[in-house]
Amino acid sequence: MHDHAHGRRAIEAMIRSADLGGLLRLAETFHGHLCPFVSLGVKAGQYAMATLDRPNTGMEEIVAIVECNNCFTDGIQVVTGCTFGNNALIFRDLGKTAVTVSRREDGQAVRLLVRPDYREQMFARYPTAEPLFQKIVVQRQGTPEDWHRFEHMWEAIARRELQTPLEEQFVIQHLRIDPPEYARIYDSVLCSRCGEQLMAPRAVGSPAQPLCRVCGQAHYYLLTGQGISEVNETQL
Ligand SMILES: [Zn+2]
Ligand SMILES: [Zn+2]
Repeated sequence: MHDHAHGRRAIEAMIRSADLGGLLRLAETFHGHLCPFVSLGVKAGQYAMATLDRPNTGMEEIVAIVECNNCFTDGIQVVTGCTFGNNALIFRDLGKTAVTVSRREDGQAVRLLVRPDYREQMFARYPTAEPLFQKIVVQRQGTPEDWHRFEHMWEAIARRELQTPLEEQFVIQHLRIDPPEYARIYDSVLCSRCGEQLMAPRAVGSPAQPLCRVCGQAHYYLLTGQGISEVNETQL
C-alpha cells in the first residue's frame, strides 16, 4: 500500500517540528485575524497532536471535542484538522475554553483547559493592553486610531504568547475516552412543500408527505455566538 499525499502533510510537519509561528500564520488565514485566543488554540492543538502522534486526513482518525465556540476553536480546527465540515469537531456547549483531542483507534486523549487566571496573567505581561482592551472590546468605544493601535498590539501579543510555557496557560490532562460514533450518511428526502432536499432524520410530517422543518414550522437547533438553542423559524 502506498502513502497518499494528503492536504495536511505540511501542517503535520509543522506539528512535529513544533513550528508554532507557521501554524499561527495558517490559523490567521482561517480566522481572519490574530488574537491571543487563536494563539492558544494553535498551541493546544499542536501539543495534543504531537502527543497523540497520529496523522489526520479529516476522516475522523482524530476527534476534537471543543467546549466553546470562540477564537480558540479556530486554532484547534486548523491544527488538528478536525473541522465543522468533516464531522471530527464535536461541540459540547459548556462555555469553557477547553478541548479534548482524541485518537479514535484507542481513545487516548489529551484535554487542555485554559487556566482560570490566564487573562489576568496575560494582561500582567502586557500592562498597556488591558485599558485598550476594555475600551475597544468590552465597551466597544475608541477612535479609529485606538482600533488600529489595538489591532497591532493584539497581533503582537498573539505572537509573543507562543513563547509562554504551555503549563502557565493550560491545565493539561491525559485521559482515555470513548470516541463518539462515526458520522452517518443519511438518506435524503424532498420536502413536499418547498421541494428542497434534506436529510431524512430532519424531516417532519408523514413519510408520504415529508416536510422540512421550515415548511413544517418545527423546532430545530441553531448554533450562534450565543451557543446552541432550540428555535423555530418565527423566532429568527
Ligand atoms: Zn480572534
Ligand atoms: Zn420545505
